[in-house]
Amino acid sequence: MRIRPLVKSFQPYKVLEGDYRIWLDKNENPFDLSPEIKEEIFEELKRVPFNRYPHITADPLRERIAEFLGIDKENIIVGNGSDELISLILKLFDGDHIVISSPTFGMYGFFAKFEGINLIDVPLDENFRLQNVEEYAENARALFICSPNNPTGNTQDREKIISVLETGAPVVLDEAYVEFAKGSNVDLISEYDNLIVLRTFSKAFGLAGVRVGYAVGSEEIIDHLHRIKPPFTLDSISMKIAGLMLDHYDLVKRNIDYIIKERERIYRKFKDYAYPSEANFILMKLNAYEFLLEKGIVVRKLGGRLTGHIRVTVGKREENDELIGALKEFMEGRG
Ligand SMILES: *Cc1c(COP(=O)(O)O)cnc(C)c1O
Repeated sequence: MRIRPLVKSFQPYKVLEGDYRIWLDKNENPFDLSPEIKEEIFEELKRVPFNRYPHITADPLRERIAEFLGIDKENIIVGNGSDELISLILKLFDGDHIVISSPTFGMYGFFAKFEGINLIDVPLDENFRLQNVEEYAENARALFICSPNNPTGNTQDREKIISVLETGAPVVLDEAYVEFAKGSNVDLISEYDNLIVLRTFSKAFGLAGVRVGYAVGSEEIIDHLHRIKPPFTLDSISMKIAGLMLDHYDLVKRNIDYIIKERERIYRKFKDYAYPSEANFILMKLNAYEFLLEKGIVVRKLGGRLTGHIRVTVGKREENDELIGALKEFMEGRG
């Protein structure tokens, strides 16, 4: 048995498990679907034929998303989480490298490494703004822009995104957290056929366990992504659930408003240590990971340039109260 050295160089994906009280580490939505919505889903699922393969290109869901965004279904591809789509996008274009701007979401680099594509990192500046990524556009398979960015929470200026698009290189704009932000740049797909916008049902829609993501782009890009996408990766059940959540966007919106309010409440209390956020989490310059864990509160510990920082997901009000109390105690202890 000869496992490829490349594969051996990967570490297993590890997350903390255990008996902790409060989970603020994965940017999940703190609210599960209500019992009423779950009942409605179960009723709908009774009519789903489990013996049949799902629609080959998930058209029923693509049509729902298209209607939701006010665009055509030809501009949408859905996948098993947006992670699947990142992997597909890297296989789509010619070019010898991708460009990322750290600190950012780890999956871009993960899939690039696996595809044997060079990774050029043009780090975000001290205010977490994009730098001169345009200079690396030539022969790039894709330039990745995460806005709002994970783990810093800030968005990038529309003018800067346009400037990157003007290079003509494929640009992947990851809007996983856009529902918590002031605005989206998805409308730019009508002007730039080199733009792909990534969205997910995992965060604002509260469906992290259901695994549905989508990408919006030109017909040409979406058509070619469908040509290389393995069929049936999105199952009939997940497709149905995501569609139903779009029907209940009023409830989703209510959660989003709650989370934004809570985010600002936490931010105001730790202004000197927290970075402004347009996502459902806050980056803090506090080396409090172990201290919080002792108290049963799990947050994300960051490394590299963000050593000594934590990323905290906005939770339910009671959870946030506990977080605030514990962080105050931490700061007092530090004197
Ligand atoms: C959570 C997240 C995603 C979504 O991943 P899914 O596979 O759809 O759950 C994508 N991009 C970023 C930056 C994220 O933080």
